[in-house]
Amino acid sequence: NREIHLASRPQGWPTADNFRLVETEVPTPGPGQIVVRNQFMSVDPYMRGRMNDVKSYVPPFQLGAPLDGGAVGEVVASEADGVKVGDTVLHGLGWREYALLDAKAARPVDPTIAPVSAYLSVLGMTGLTAYAGLLDVAGMKPGESVFVSAAAGSVGSLVGQIAKLKGAGHVVGSAGSAAKVERLKALGFDAAFDYHDGPVRDSLKAAAPDGIDVYFDNVGGDHLEAAISAMKLHGRAAICGMIAQYNDTQPPAAPRNLAMVIGKRLTLRGFLVGDHGNLREQFVRDVSGWLRDGKLTYDETIVDGIENAPEAFLGLLRGENLGKMLVRV
Ligand code: NDP
Repeated sequence: NREIHLASRPQGWPTADNFRLVETEVPTPGPGQIVVRNQFMSVDPYMRGRMNDVKSYVPPFQLGAPLDGGAVGEVVASEADGVKVGDTVLHGLGWREYALLDAKAARPVDPTIAPVSAYLSVLGMTGLTAYAGLLDVAGMKPGESVFVSAAAGSVGSLVGQIAKLKGAGHVVGSAGSAAKVERLKALGFDAAFDYHDGPVRDSLKAAAPDGIDVYFDNVGGDHLEAAISAMKLHGRAAICGMIAQYNDTQPPAAPRNLAMVIGKRLTLRGFLVGDHGNLREQFVRDVSGWLRDGKLTYDETIVDGIENAPEAFLGLLRGENLGKMLVRV
């Protein structure tokens, strides 16, 4: 069994030296436990925060211990009632080839409905984040105009498409390359821009000349500042992530225009997907229907091999992914 440990805590941008590949024995299950051979594991931006030794909404990773996070795999040993060898389960012990866990901590998934990787992407945590953030937190209504940042990523690409499916008017996305901008247009975004091409404020104004009702923030900083300027009266922002500052060692310079929140009566609302489990059934129903009807597309960028998981995580922070970044274990 090979697993990835946190060797040291990154200062600023993480590097390969912060991780260590460690060989251990394949575990055997005790009463109520199962062993899962992981097939796919997720790398996610929030993991960067867990590499810092600070108090947050999830505890920090421990030095010299395996990292963890979303994974799907096949049960290869079971001492638990109701879970059989050969079942496919979703659980929280990624970053290793074999996971030992209480059967209660694993959720069975149906590999005949969708490829198992989808339970870490469109039908998984990032899909629910997009769905809940847009429809519940921001309360998007038909006809409204929407801006989403990191729009070619896992959450962002679904936000834009779900917005169109739920009747949004004008949908704008920003992303980090010309190829990603092309992809957004192919996914049905009305306008898209590369945020390297000029100040975000100018690009957003050109892409949404009439302003926006809803901003789905994945980036923070200059993107949030631009969105505040572009928002109409009573505009709402779902504050999902601020990836532009996860590796910063200094406080961010933007947004400088926060006072506009008052005059425009804006709502900026942070959220965590974990608080929106009540929407899961409705989310799965909607998303599986859209997938079946070919109305929703999801991209995945797959890196092979547990030994390359750190590189996949670093690539995610650098924007090397289209859609969900996953590791095939
Ligand atoms: P993505 O698939 O969107 O991958 C991250 C993307 O961020 C990269 O592909 C890169 O694309 C972009 N990026 C990186 N650095 C910058 C930067 N400085 N400025 C602008 N864009 C940047 O990841 P996820 O879909 O998993 O997550 C998206 C966001 O949602 C993150 O902020 C994450 O923390 C947040 N999140 C929040 C949750 C919650 O419960 N609140 C749950 C899940 C995710 P590019 O090439 O375009 O730069």
